Amino acid sequence: MVSKEIEIIKGHRLDYQLYQYLLQYFSDNELQNLFDAIRRPPNRYYVRVNTMKTSPSDLVNILQEHSVVVYIDETLPEALWFPVKGGPNRIPSARKYVLADKRAAESVYMGANLYVPGVVRMDDDIKRGGDEVNVIAPDGEIVAFGTAEINHDEVKNVKRGGVAVRTLVSVYEVPKIRELHEYAIGLFYDQSLPAQWVAHVLNPRPGDVIVDMNAAPGGKTSHVIQLSGGKAVVYAFDRSENKIREMIESLSRLGMDGLYRVEARDTRFLDVDRPDLVNSVDRVLIDPPCTDMGVRPRLFDVKTMEIVKSTAEYQRQFIKVAWKLLKPGGGVLVYSTCTIPPLENEDNIAYAESLGFEIVSINIPNASGGLIDRYRDSVVRFYPHVHGTPGFFIAKLIKPVQMHQ
Ligand code: SAH
Repeated sequence: MVSKEIEIIKGHRLDYQLYQYLLQYFSDNELQNLFDAIRRPPNRYYVRVNTMKTSPSDLVNILQEHSVVVYIDETLPEALWFPVKGGPNRIPSARKYVLADKRAAESVYMGANLYVPGVVRMDDDIKRGGDEVNVIAPDGEIVAFGTAEINHDEVKNVKRGGVAVRTLVSVYEVPKIRELHEYAIGLFYDQSLPAQWVAHVLNPRPGDVIVDMNAAPGGKTSHVIQLSGGKAVVYAFDRSENKIREMIESLSRLGMDGLYRVEARDTRFLDVDRPDLVNSVDRVLIDPPCTDMGVRPRLFDVKTMEIVKSTAEYQRQFIKVAWKLLKPGGGVLVYSTCTIPPLENEDNIAYAESLGFEIVSINIPNASGGLIDRYRDSVVRFYPHVHGTPGFFIAKLIKPVQMHQ
């Protein structure tokens, strides 16, 4: 069945059902502002200081010595941010084109170099060593101007990860912090401000048994380890072996080898696969796959009601298992997503309450409450067009003594 699509702003489409659904919560004008913000990166690019290796003020001093402009966040001391430049920048035109895949194009749009795996096609007269090119996103948008670092016929052969185009002018510019020595030695980790609040809401204590049900690539796991001073028993589970490899590498860079246990698991069945964890976990984090409607920048996207509904169903399976794992009488669940629809957020919290969980109100500065009256003062939301952050949702629940089941 083909359903009608509504283009909210250039490149961002919703099917008619999802559009109607979101209109229950946002005006048409708000939806436009929201997607308009999604198309751009936030004005601030955030990283989290690895306080197991350095302090925020020491890292700021080191970065400033390299002439990097960096600030400490007003609300969260280990959060540092770099101003994102480009208002947006005008891109010089080149005669030759390199087509990038969507993910690569979105990084190049913010100033990253284009790496070989992200190249879809290069004009066949492109030569390495100075050929000027424009990098094009799959929707035809020019995201950068740069120089070719490989010949067009090398795309298939150059070793994975090599630079294909060195970016000279991009629509937006985020400092290339991953090239800094301080990144390599694990003094910080790229993480948005809302995502940095999640581990604080979880509030890990030394000695706690903590399960991260969707851990890879390890952003929140590593923060949990950091906040517990490496003294909690942290289980990092994820279904994807590839993403787990990436997580192990990142956490090693952060100096956290041996401070957590990692296993590839489909955690929808964790109660069956790890019966030893049933009723014995102090804190569970669910950061499940979601429809990602808060992730920025996103050049173009199509979302449907069907995908939102099936994703929400999928997310509930983790909540059901978390209920079984947590200790009765105070076990804590934190649930977070980087998406907008209440079906994946407030409605899933209502589902958790139907299992017996009780909501614990959380308060975060410069954020909003829930989109549904019942959760107006208990859960937290960040909106791209209001707070300048990615779109984000966080809720906290506890498993009380009496079980309702
Ligand atoms: N918490 C992570 C991001 C998680 S993204 C961070 O802060 O860095 C969602 C993750 O859920 C993905 O890594 C995906 O592989 C994982 N996932 C999806 N389905 C899963 C399942 N059934 N069981 C366990 N993990 C799953």
